[in-house]
Amino acid sequence: MSEMNFEFSEDFALRMDREDPLSHFRSQFFFPKVYGQEAIYFCGNSLGLQPKSVSKYIDKELSNWANLAVDGHFHGEDAWYHIRKKSKPALAEILGTHEHEVVAMNNLTVNLHLLMVSFYRPTAKRFKIIIEKGAFPSDQYMLETQVKYHGLNPDDVIVELNPRPGEHTLRTADILAEIRKQGEQLALVNMAGLQYYTGQVFDMKAISAAAHEVGALAGFDLAHAAGNVPLALHDWDVDFATWCSYKYMNSGPGNVSGIYIHERFAQRPDLLRFAGWWGHDEGQRFLMEKGFIPMYGADGWQLANSNVLALAAHQASLDIFQEAGIQRLRQKSERLTGYLEFLIKEISGSTGILEIITPENPSERGCQLSLLIHRGGKAVFDEWYQQGVVGDWRNPNVIRLAPTPLYNSYMDVFRFAKILEQSLKKFA
Ligand SMILES: *Cc1c(COP(=O)(O)O)cnc(C)c1O
Repeated sequence: MSEMNFEFSEDFALRMDREDPLSHFRSQFFFPKVYGQEAIYFCGNSLGLQPKSVSKYIDKELSNWANLAVDGHFHGEDAWYHIRKKSKPALAEILGTHEHEVVAMNNLTVNLHLLMVSFYRPTAKRFKIIIEKGAFPSDQYMLETQVKYHGLNPDDVIVELNPRPGEHTLRTADILAEIRKQGEQLALVNMAGLQYYTGQVFDMKAISAAAHEVGALAGFDLAHAAGNVPLALHDWDVDFATWCSYKYMNSGPGNVSGIYIHERFAQRPDLLRFAGWWGHDEGQRFLMEKGFIPMYGADGWQLANSNVLALAAHQASLDIFQEAGIQRLRQKSERLTGYLEFLIKEISGSTGILEIITPENPSERGCQLSLLIHRGGKAVFDEWYQQGVVGDWRNPNVIRLAPTPLYNSYMDVFRFAKILEQSLKKFA
């Protein structure tokens, strides 16, 4: 869809909404109010909205708990003992994996640490880790402390990828060149799949191939990618990944993360890991014997029994994703974000107040656009918020706006554009 087709008019936005095959999903979510009016919510990259079905899913587990108590673990189809299996078909579709390659568990930063235990095994010769500069702080702290845990100095180990001078995002060729340059010293590429600050999607397939060529592994933090852009982790030959479910996956604040482990590691009991009883062979778990025997695939990395109430909320959202379909969501997403981009350029054009730093090429971005604010600073963001626009401000000078295809409309984008038009007059 080229920009040529977009128009800055209410009629156009209304027509796009009428023709949108996914428009009915909007009414399945609760929208927050800002200053008494329904928000223009562009913050699904930080916390996705609550599906109205969530309370029903949680109530069901509450009543199982009330009525069955401990028997709920093994009672019927919904037995808690197997609850992790329920989310696998949807996760496999969202992440592009086999079902045995994924499992919902823990929280994101916890999983990053656990994955490092298995996949970062530095030697005197091969110990370096590549990450993008300006990675999400939790990922930086994780790497820094993991490296120290191995008795190494982060400055000697962590190689940060920098955009070229004057550029905001990374070029794939430069990423691959750095991987080749580190060569046999490189142990791991561990970076975002979609960068939280710039909104750039990295070429995970090419990065994984380059890492493998030099004998290293490639793992990705998909916090901003999962549920946002179609993924094909298995086919891209990615070694491992983790994500969170409360951003684009709309599963509720702090809700469960998940991990992906490529099939080639599915039956590698020799692979080091920190184990718990929930990763132990399911058939023998209650023999309560010593000697850890990992389950096949990603399940073998589980530590503790599932958080049933959290998984219930997660499932409510995953069922909506299954119904909507990742490919249809992506189609709408490209258009919706394209429309936002078109209107921002149309309105802010020559004012010099702001600049979109997210790549223009739809295949290098998801739904988020990051706007670098050249004049007015956070006052621009505050002005929009006063008018009901919920985006987010990231220091030092970026506003992130993420129109999501599940619950945002073309009219949301149009209404925002009118607010933008008014506000830029103030900062001109
Ligand atoms: C949101 C986000 C996190 C948050 O980590 P939690 O462990 O879920 O609190 C970490 N890393 C990235 C890249 C994120 O986008």
